[in-house]
Parts: sequence; C-alpha cells; structure tokens
Amino acid sequence: MSNNHKPYQLASYEWKGRHSIIEVNGSFIGGDNLCVIAGPCAVESEEQINTIASFLSKQGIKFIRGGAYKPRTSPYAFQGLKKEGLRLLKQVSERHELNVVTEVIDFSLLDEIYEYTDILQIGARNMKNYQFLKELGKTKKPILLKRGMDATIEEWLLAAEYILLGGNEDVILCERGIRTFDSSTRNTMDLASIPQIKHLSHLPIIADPSQGTGNRELVGPMSLAAVAAGADGLMIEVHNNPENALSDGPQSLYLDQFAELLPKIKKFAIAAGKVVDLREMANSERLNN
Ligand code: PEP
Ligand code: MN
Repeated sequence: MSNNHKPYQLASYEWKGRHSIIEVNGSFIGGDNLCVIAGPCAVESEEQINTIASFLSKQGIKFIRGGAYKPRTSPYAFQGLKKEGLRLLKQVSERHELNVVTEVIDFSLLDEIYEYTDILQIGARNMKNYQFLKELGKTKKPILLKRGMDATIEEWLLAAEYILLGGNEDVILCERGIRTFDSSTRNTMDLASIPQIKHLSHLPIIADPSQGTGNRELVGPMSLAAVAAGADGLMIEVHNNPENALSDGPQSLYLDQFAELLPKIKKFAIAAGKVVDLREMANSERLNN
C-alpha cells in the first residue's frame, strides 16, 4: 500500500491533505469550531431529560447526549429506557433545538435508533466489532467512534477505516480513556492521542473526560487540557441530580458546575485557535439565563 506504509489509507491525513469538517444539520465539527456535546449518561425520565435539555439549551449548547440503550458492565444495572428513551430524546431535541447524540449498542438496534439521532455514537465496547463497523459504513449519518478501552491509536484508525471504506465519510473520533495499571481514575485519559490523531488523520477528534476520569472533580481540568491539546470538541456528562443518577453519577457534573466550566472552555478554545460553537440566542432568552 502507498501512503507512507500506513495500514489505513482513507483515515490518514495524507489522503485528504487537510483536516475534515463534518456538517451536522448546519453545525460544523472540526476546523475552527469547538463542539460541546453534553447531557446525562442515560435518559432516565421525561422530567430529567427535559430539565437537562432546557438548561443546556439556555447555555447555547447545540448537542445533547443521552443513552437510551446502555452497555452496562452488570446485567443487573439500569439498561436504559430503550424506545421510550429515544422518544424522549426526540421530544426534547425538538423543543429545545438540540441535536441528538445517542449510542447504538448493537447492529440489531441500528434501524430503530437511526431516525431518532443526529449522530450515531459507537461505544468503546464496539470499536472492534468489525461487522458492525462495515454496516455503519453504509449509513448516511455522522458516526462518533469512541476509542476502545484497549485499542492502540492504529487499531482505532483502522476501525474508522472500516466505516470510511463502506462509504460513510463522516467519522468523528472520541478519546475516552484507556485501561492502564492505575485504578485511581476510572480510565487513563490519553491526551497525547489528540495531537497524535491530528498528525496522523484528517478526522476530527473530540474528548470525553467523563468516561475518561470517572470523577466529576477531574472533568473540568481534563476538559480544558483536551482543548489545549487541540481537541475539536468535548463530550461531557451532566445531570440535574447526580447522586441519584441511574448510571455514571460520580462522573456527572452538576448543572451549575457545567455553567461555571463553559466560560473557561471558551477561553481555552480561543487560546487554542478555536471558538466554542454555541447557538445564537435571542436577547429574551439570554436575559432569562
Ligand atoms: C457513555 O458515553 O456513556 C459510554 C458508555 O461510553 P464508552 O463507550 O466510552 O464507555
Ligand atoms: Mn456514561
């Protein structure tokens, strides 16, 4: 294979010679934009998702995350509201002008989830599900491809290559921490992967410091560090009642913590040559803020 003997081709920087910018309903991920995706780990109830969506929208956030189907380590843990969760996501996204990012945990759910989401999130556990990646290559929606918890950067880019090879060019990578010998944090956030991916690939890369650290006290600093390292965006877990969250409460920011973090993210973005991509709000909305 040509291309500097890299095992991946379509994912390589050289293939394009510039960094890709991915359009999602008139918003852009990549380039000078810093995209902020926020929301709960899982959709839990109408009241929960509506409270969070309303809050995020008032902050100008354009993308809400939330799992309707959750890949839980324990079969006894909350598995998600499933179809009802998808319906609630759609409802709040329309009400609050938000794009939806939700995980497709299995190929058998792709058709069901497809119409309810704007970005298909593929979790760390599925990054090496190659048959699934091939099917995702045939879809037309942007794919947020999380890094497998044991995946090298090369394996991750080869996973992206599977999707690109199928014809879907809209792949966004997401660093979410890897397993190392250290159990002090949930995962070890590999911040160096961000500039490394920028060097090796044209694909946008965002960071998920929530799964990356497992601890809300570390989410702020690691968000800023990821922006400083050149990330194109952040995915941050936010909850209106983290103590009682049905999944990932300890790593979920309180709403006011997120509101305090956002201006800092804006400053770091500017220092990194980017602008946080926020929804333009009418003055009346701003005043109510
Ligand atoms: C999540 O985003 O809640 C999640 C399950 O992520 P990951 O696949 O990175 O573990
Ligand atoms: Mn989570």
